[in-house]
Amino acid sequence: MSPRHESKLSRRNFCACCVGATAFAASGGWLTPRQALAEARNIVDLIRDSAAKTPIKVYKLRGGVSILEGSGGNIAVVTGSDGKVFVDAGITASRPRILGAANDLSRDPISCLINTHWHFDHTDGNDWLNAEGAAIIAHENTHKHLMSAQRVDDWDFNFSPSPLPAVPTETFSSEKTLSLNGSTLHLKHYEAAHTDSDISVGFGEADILHVGDTYWNGIYPFIDYSTGGSIGGMINATEANLAAVTDKTIVIPGHGAPVSNRAELSAYRDMLVAIRDNVARLKQQERSLEETIAAKPTAEFDAHWGQFVITPALFTRLVYEGV
Ligand SMILES: [Zn+2]
Repeated sequence: MSPRHESKLSRRNFCACCVGATAFAASGGWLTPRQALAEARNIVDLIRDSAAKTPIKVYKLRGGVSILEGSGGNIAVVTGSDGKVFVDAGITASRPRILGAANDLSRDPISCLINTHWHFDHTDGNDWLNAEGAAIIAHENTHKHLMSAQRVDDWDFNFSPSPLPAVPTETFSSEKTLSLNGSTLHLKHYEAAHTDSDISVGFGEADILHVGDTYWNGIYPFIDYSTGGSIGGMINATEANLAAVTDKTIVIPGHGAPVSNRAELSAYRDMLVAIRDNVARLKQQERSLEETIAAKPTAEFDAHWGQFVITPALFTRLVYEGV
């Protein structure tokens, strides 16, 4: 890849979760790296344009915790005298709408930002949130991925490092507990799942758990094998999420309907396991990827789960890669 491409399409202008999916859906099949790159350019503009126009929808939960929906991944905000704490940063183009929504919640300054993982649609806003005064906390692998050039093999794609203000200054490897705004925030790293940088953020007193992109509510998830993700890791993370919540817990997914619960999370686990088993069986029979997709191993789930950017064919491919 030429330097010109790199400068035009830094990670900060790129949504790893959406580009491959939409490129794949648009083509109806495999893309050559060159085609994928051409699609990616268009998708970046689409994402920017979409974020620039999409209103931010606010869901007030409890214990001072709210969700902002409409800019990349679902953003959680905790208000209080210690300053607003953001979980994920959305897309930069949404800045005025995110600020407006956050100011409607309270006039506290923004003091802290936690990234659930390194992907663009969760970290693009790091720069401006840092300029607003937020210290950025994340897993050490998020720091590593944002600090250095990255390659996503599926799209033959190289990404430039993020500018320093967008890079987390506080990192951890396993777990971290914060006491802010009368709320105990528990940050916990997953074994590699959607990426190798995923963490959950639990709000103890409010009994709310933000599980990042380990959970896509009602839609097939993206899995980023380029930075350590796998279908097995996604299932393990989902089992860990189920073990961590009760029927009373509010579960915030990275994508999809933002206010979720244990029953929906359980249905998601059942979907992942069933499709993993179906695809593994076909792969063991030495079916090629094309033959496996043609056998429609996701068929019974498609009407409910296949209505977003991760199409049945793409999700089959992502599972096939890991079984
Ligand atoms: Zn992601």
